[in-house]
Amino acid sequence: MISARDIHKRFGHTEVLKGVSLEVGKGDVIAIIGRSGSGKSTFLRCLNHLETIDRGHIDIEGETLASTDAKGAHYATEDEVRRICRKMGMVFQQFNLFPHLTVLQNIIEAPITVKGMARDEIVPKAEELLRKVGLLEKRDNYPSRLSGGQKQRVAIARALAMEPDIMLFDEPTSALDPELTGEVLRTMRELAEERMTMLVVTHEMAFARDVSTRTVFMDGGEIVESGTPADMFSNPQHPRTRAFLDHML
Ligand code: ADP
Ligand code: MG
Repeated sequence: MISARDIHKRFGHTEVLKGVSLEVGKGDVIAIIGRSGSGKSTFLRCLNHLETIDRGHIDIEGETLASTDAKGAHYATEDEVRRICRKMGMVFQQFNLFPHLTVLQNIIEAPITVKGMARDEIVPKAEELLRKVGLLEKRDNYPSRLSGGQKQRVAIARALAMEPDIMLFDEPTSALDPELTGEVLRTMRELAEERMTMLVVTHEMAFARDVSTRTVFMDGGEIVESGTPADMFSNPQHPRTRAFLDHML
């Protein structure tokens, strides 16, 4: 589903990604863990072109998004980039719902304007997604009336409404009060059980350990270690992984 090879990215003089490579298969649930500033968000954002890479190669479902030759990194055409990136839905720490739109309107907005779907077609689907995240009764509420956990579940439903093949989550529970993280993690766990391909940047070690098919530890702009969560959590190989897990667990 995703092949990222030797991704390099710098901001000014700071090299934030120093050759990150990751292969993601269908139905994989990859948890990306690591301390703040290690490049996790930047890596995720490079995958769906919210950031451009300086060097490396990104294929999404067999199509080349970005590649590199002697002259540097270059991207597919604008239309192709848009089409390829639409295969990925993203959920952010800050839910980014449109405050002036109701829950339902938030969900149907992109399918109508971006995909050209008919209202009659998308509304029942949006309602089905709201039922799935347990928020059908909030259909006509505005985001300001929702708790953080409810907002994040709407944000997940909104991303799913575009029918992505891959879901990218960037610390989806980090902005939530502890008592609200569970409902969001449950929704994500259900998605994982349905074999959605997922990349999840998270500080929720229990989620990484119990739900991910592979856990990836990033530090200093590199993937230091990756493996099954069982191996990673019970028998970390690298001292930096050990230090991080000791701190987190
Ligand atoms: P993480 O998500 O692991 O906390 P980030 O990918 O957000 O890490 O950031 C990695 C490094 O890149 C940090 O040092 C951060 O300050 C820097 N960085 C991230 N985004 C930008 C940006 N737009 N401009 C300059 N520096 C950035
Ligand atoms: Mg981050």
